[in-house]
Amino acid sequence: MSEIASNIISLRQTLPPHVRLVAVSKTRSINEILEAYNAGQRCFGENRVQEILNKKDLLPLDIEWHLIGHLQRNKVKFIVPFISMIHSVDSLKLLSEINSEASKLDRVVNVLLQVHIAMEETKFGFSREEIVAMMTSEGVNDLQHVCICGVMGMATFTSDTDQVTREFKSLIALYHSLKEKYFHSDEHFREISMGMSGDYELAIKEGSTIIRVGSLILVNDQKKHRYSRSHTVLCSPDIR
Ligand SMILES: *Cc1c(COP(=O)(O)O)cnc(C)c1O
Repeated sequence: MSEIASNIISLRQTLPPHVRLVAVSKTRSINEILEAYNAGQRCFGENRVQEILNKKDLLPLDIEWHLIGHLQRNKVKFIVPFISMIHSVDSLKLLSEINSEASKLDRVVNVLLQVHIAMEETKFGFSREEIVAMMTSEGVNDLQHVCICGVMGMATFTSDTDQVTREFKSLIALYHSLKEKYFHSDEHFREISMGMSGDYELAIKEGSTIIRVGSLILVNDQKKHRYSRSHTVLCSPDIR
């Protein structure tokens, strides 16, 4: 078995049943993604629209693609036809654009509201106040072609686990208050996307339902060649 396959299988074995794994495949090759696919992984996350578009036609059709990175409004139309979930919605304007492209195709697109929970300035996302403002605005009720499934957040990149824990707790608290106020009877609003390679265990402990893990499981090509030179990809082309 390839290193990627065994990484995926052993990680999945440790996950509670309510936690889904999005394998983050940004910068990974088609062959690396296929190794994960052959280990049963179907859910992959990318942070750039162009990279998903380049990869998806070379890969099996039953892969569920998740967009986890910042999305520009002018790129929305390219991913709406096939995307399984957009984790990175950070404005009402973006949400409206997704809704409008989805309505043209008579689709409903699953989205998460990205919340800024980290100390760093650079991370995208709504503040708590901005989400409340959006939820109480008129526009949000007209969006019949998006399904708001929950929230997403990225903790500060730090080894200070107390800080990461505090940030995760703040996302969980916000999720519960949004649930109570605006999504009380909406069964779709139930996801909390938090946790990456370095902090997914903490995230699960705090209540994550979706973890986005890349570097821990998808070793890069060079490393793969060093460790398993003879490996061949098992996926037959007619799976496509
Ligand atoms: C790259 C990325 C991840 C995965 O990061 P790893 O540390 O490689 O697990 C998760 N979420 C987002 C938004 C990312 O851009």
